[in-house]
Amino acid sequence: MTSIRIALVGVGKIARDQHVPAIAGQEGVELVAACSRNATLEGVASFTDFDEMLRAMPEIDAVSLCTPPTARLDYALKAFAAGKHVILEKPPAATLAEIEPLVRLAAEAKRTLFATWHSRFADAVAPARDWLANARIERATVTWKEDVRHWHPGQDWIWEPGGLGVFDPGINALSIVTAILPRPIHLKAADLEFPSNRATPIAARLSFADLAGVPVEAEFDWRQTGPQTWDVDVVADKGHLKISKGGAVLSIDGRTVVEGRDNEYPGIYRRFAELARDNRSDVDLTPLTLVADAFMLGRRASVEAFV
Ligand code: NAP
Repeated sequence: MTSIRIALVGVGKIARDQHVPAIAGQEGVELVAACSRNATLEGVASFTDFDEMLRAMPEIDAVSLCTPPTARLDYALKAFAAGKHVILEKPPAATLAEIEPLVRLAAEAKRTLFATWHSRFADAVAPARDWLANARIERATVTWKEDVRHWHPGQDWIWEPGGLGVFDPGINALSIVTAILPRPIHLKAADLEFPSNRATPIAARLSFADLAGVPVEAEFDWRQTGPQTWDVDVVADKGHLKISKGGAVLSIDGRTVVEGRDNEYPGIYRRFAELARDNRSDVDLTPLTLVADAFMLGRRASVEAFV
């Protein structure tokens, strides 16, 4: 079986740190090109212009869009027009309305659109979902606190409209919560803190509930120095489930039952290879919808400037 030939678009932190090694280690996919305005990748053909890449390398089967979300739509449209599969980094788009038509375009082009949520491939997530499937849930708490200066040095786009601010990591937590809880949740209230000199929030407190009223409280904060916290706690009739380290570790009633490794991105490319075999798409907009709702319903406060 021939490999699916992939071009990475937007060669920045995540493309280098995760996509390149994940593709290299995954059977059925092969990295053949890169397209980035200011960066190249060693060992593959590198382009600064997307159209030029498609013209020069018709053998490309798929493009993996690793740019910030605001810079993906045109590439996705051109890719489907040229008969390519499209992989989207999270969050899949800058707006809900721009992503929905892409699902139809993928079907018409008989190609795959895969909106990835890397945290859903973390080792604790599937066992947590299975453990909770028959539980009566009492409440859930999400604590996602990290140091923006450490994780996003020099990335101005996260502070611009569409960059999502603290929801850029926070949406990972929501992708986990919406994958493990047996029932959908909706937003009831939100408090968003915007640095006085920035267009996106640095912290958010969110209150969700499911239709039975089971509460899910979330706290996202980008000002945490020292130890970083990426935890989800679920209290249920059968015990206390805790996901920590962003989805790598699962414990039940204080006992560690999964001690995972960093293998989210290999999972993404394994899943993509399966989808592309039959030109199927996988696009779940639930985490992005909850974030959009937070911007719609959230009470805004101005806080200390971020410099
Ligand atoms: P990044 O380091 O800023 O890299 C993104 C690259 O996209 C840039 O280097 C830039 O390369 C290109 N680009 C194209 N249009 C752009 C525009 N309008 N503004 C800025 N850059 C543009 O960002 P990243 O951390 O890799 O994040 C990219 C995506 O991956 C985001 O959606 C993010 O949420 C997701 N992600 C990031 C991480 C992480 O740990 N960093 C983890 C998981 C997912 P050229 O200038 O060469 O074109």
